Amino acid sequence: MGRYTGPVCRLCRRAGQKLYLKGEKCYTPKCPVERRPYPPGQHGTQRRRRLSDRGLQLQEKQKARYIYGLMEQQFQRFFAEAKRQKGVTGENLVKLLESRLDNVVYRLGFADSRRQARQIVRHGHIAVNGRKVDIPSALVRPGDVVGWTARGQKTALFEMAKEQAGSRTLPSWLELDAAAMTGRVTGEPKPEEIGVPFNTASIVEYYSR
Ligand code: SF4
Repeated sequence: MGRYTGPVCRLCRRAGQKLYLKGEKCYTPKCPVERRPYPPGQHGTQRRRRLSDRGLQLQEKQKARYIYGLMEQQFQRFFAEAKRQKGVTGENLVKLLESRLDNVVYRLGFADSRRQARQIVRHGHIAVNGRKVDIPSALVRPGDVVGWTARGQKTALFEMAKEQAGSRTLPSWLELDAAAMTGRVTGEPKPEEIGVPFNTASIVEYYSR
């Protein structure tokens, strides 16, 4: 599955806000959004941004896509599934995105960023209910227990995650057992807890044309 491999800080500068895509660096003065708070590119400082309604909708959609690290086609598939489900499409979309295994690994503090979480999953270091799952887009459900495989526990990443275990504020639908380095999904993700907000109504409008 394709993925964006360019410089992620450009995505934040393009979105005009911090999207926290890089882990530690995002919380330091080295963050490019703080040092250069204008769009990237040669004429970034001069570019005036007067966005149309369509442009604003596109910006919100892109923001969500960048945060979860999805290519357009993958994002469209998630949107189609959100639309197919009963309930409010925007809320369904957030719940689906938050239920991704790579996001849960990140939320539990097992990785510094979603990008790193995706790599950890892809390398076969993560298990769900005791069985290895190496698909970052796999969805977890309430009751699932996410932990490390035996091989994963031998990595430096595991040691680092263990040292930092418990330092991250967890959303209410996740529970961490720091000693066992496992996390339990206790309920459905809550849209109000996503941290970096994006306007789901704008995303729905964007795809409704
Ligand atoms: Fe880069 Fe993080 Fe700052 Fe975004 S928030 S520009 S990813 S350092």
